[in-house]
Amino acid sequence: MPRVRPRSLRLRLTLVVTLAVGLALTVASFVLVNSMSNTLFGGMAESAAAQVDKVAEAVERGQPLPPEDPASATMILVEDQAGKVVASVPQTGQQAVEGRPVPVERARATGAAEGRPPAEDFEIVPARQVSTPQGEVRTVRAISRSGQITQSIDLVVNSLLVAAPVLTIFVGWLTWFAVDRALRPIEAVRRRAEAISHSTLDERLPEQDTGDEVGKLTSTLNRMLDRIASGARRQREFVSDASHELRTPLAAMRAELEVSLAHRDSADWRNVATRLLDDHRRLERLTGDLLTLARLDEAAVSRRAEPVHLDEIVAGEITAVRHAEVRPSLTPVVVTGVVPELVRLVRNLLDNADKHASGVVEVSLSVDARHALFTVDDDGPGVPPDQRERVFDRFFRVDGSRDRASGGVGLGLALVRRIARSHGGEVTVTASPSLGGARFEVRLPRN
Ligand code: ADP
Repeated sequence: MPRVRPRSLRLRLTLVVTLAVGLALTVASFVLVNSMSNTLFGGMAESAAAQVDKVAEAVERGQPLPPEDPASATMILVEDQAGKVVASVPQTGQQAVEGRPVPVERARATGAAEGRPPAEDFEIVPARQVSTPQGEVRTVRAISRSGQITQSIDLVVNSLLVAAPVLTIFVGWLTWFAVDRALRPIEAVRRRAEAISHSTLDERLPEQDTGDEVGKLTSTLNRMLDRIASGARRQREFVSDASHELRTPLAAMRAELEVSLAHRDSADWRNVATRLLDDHRRLERLTGDLLTLARLDEAAVSRRAEPVHLDEIVAGEITAVRHAEVRPSLTPVVVTGVVPELVRLVRNLLDNADKHASGVVEVSLSVDARHALFTVDDDGPGVPPDQRERVFDRFFRVDGSRDRASGGVGLGLALVRRIARSHGGEVTVTASPSLGGARFEVRLPRN
């Protein structure tokens, strides 16, 4: 059976609080009334027993009966063997002595006669039998008037019957409004959040400086929106940069073809093909880089990390260096990573060094206690200190015109950094101490 659960938190909280208060009040009322009646009736029984004892003693000794205790609600009857009342405390006169069917009714009639409200009378302690000095057997019996006690208990019960529901309803009402007040900021946040869509990512939730849970939630959500907005902004920039980069070679190819076709007889088609192939390569590399970056950005894609012999990857990629002389110094080291990504990282750094070096590239792989250290030095122009952070930005080139010809679009180092970081490492660039050009240093956690 499905559980019925009100959708509104306000209703739910109010119901729970009201039920809890109602239940607590009911239990408390029962306990109160119970202990009250126990105490009152217990006290009455005690005093009745004491009075019976006193009267019984007086009867036994043939002494006059003790005087009436004005505070007592108990009447003591002394009966003979036939059950006839022969004396009583308080004295009720002659008629009390005669014509009794039962003492209970006698006492009640007495009460009514004296103008007191009729009350239920009863024997609260066992009767005692004694014998007078003359040897007559007498029964001493206490008849207690419970009227006052019952009345006070009734009064308490009646007050509780009114007060408990009223209190419960009041607490429920208070909760209903208090919860509404507490939830109002949440509703405001919800409404604003509903209004913030992808296109209005600059808007923020209403923040109150209350420091309470809602305030904290709102500022956390706002910080999350900040991150989402800046992520979306970066993505837009990336897409526009990417399409700009794609348009340039496409436009160049088109112009080349149009010009050549306009002079189709005199055109050097072999040359045209070579240049088109260059542009084609650039496009291919660019789209490949974009794809890799996009994949790395997608955290959801589970990438297969495994133990990798980094020295083997580096040794393999060194063979692709065409122009410069490579001076390797490789220590075997195993890291945990994704092979194609690590290959890409090494290849991009070696590519760049090969491209910028005048003649020599130093490649070193070493280890310290916790890291594998991969450095590539070259004797080229190096990276100016003020650009050492920016070379890792997407589409950044130290000198746009210089690199455009060589095919770079400024994604190589961005990829290197992205890969290093996704492997828990980092990459930095400094000046090469030995060769004077650039030194790229990659630090990866080793196994
Ligand atoms: P690209 O894909 O165009 O090569 P990169 O991201 O690899 O772009 O490099 C970014 C910038 O850093 C480029 O302008 C490049 O000239 C410069 N750069 C990269 N490596 C070196 C190096 N070893 N020496 C000097 N400049 C470098």
